Amino acid sequence: MNEQTLSMRLERVAAQVPAGARLADIGSDHGYLPVALMRRGAISAAVAGEVALTPFRAAERTVRESGQDMRIKVRLANGLAAIEPADGITAISLCGMGGETIRDILDSGKARLSGQERLILQPNGGEQPLRQWLMDNGYRILFEEVLRENRFFYEIIVAERAGPAQYCAQELYFGPLQMQARSPAFLAKWQRMLRLKHKTLSHFARARQPVPEDKVLEIARQARWITELLA
Ligand code: SAM
Repeated sequence: MNEQTLSMRLERVAAQVPAGARLADIGSDHGYLPVALMRRGAISAAVAGEVALTPFRAAERTVRESGQDMRIKVRLANGLAAIEPADGITAISLCGMGGETIRDILDSGKARLSGQERLILQPNGGEQPLRQWLMDNGYRILFEEVLRENRFFYEIIVAERAGPAQYCAQELYFGPLQMQARSPAFLAKWQRMLRLKHKTLSHFARARQPVPEDKVLEIARQARWITELLA
């Protein structure tokens, strides 16, 4: 992967960035996503935000070498602190981090959100608490996808403040749109998850120390939901 050839995961994220967007890519690492989109003429401006020095320097180098430094700002900042009002950001991508981390970045940076931005989120796990935050904060999920790359499953969630939405507990767990679409990758992901839940339950049953009952009940409930989904 580089700034010209994105991974399939980042290609699918790129496909959700509206044409001509002013993109803030938070946790940009090498800055491949904004640089690839700018090279293709798909966005008009970008901010690449990074909290850690080594990826920040890598993003600076990618942007400099691409000759895009006039239109892509690289900023060393925690979360949405990388965004300034004058940037006029219209889309924010947060990819390759845990869902809880993405949620915490959005929550602590709420003051930087105008409410007009499209959020393009690619959590690695923790999708349920992330969807819960979206619902609690007036976002509607407009697009979801599960994809499989190199034996890993990835989820992409796109949301906008397009009117409040109410999702039930199962929709928050599986994804409201994915539950309807039931793509082959989605079903394969949950078949794998069901095997893992059953494995966890049998470890609990054989554990030397008794496992707290609420923990067992929670995993058993998830296994039941998945079984019902796949039925
Ligand atoms: N977004 C890229 C992708 O999907 O390929 C890079 C993902 S990389 C695994 C996660 C990056 O997020 C790391 O470079 C990390 O330093 C950065 N990160 C984590 N927490 C952050 C925060 N609060 N603010 C900005 N960047 C953060």
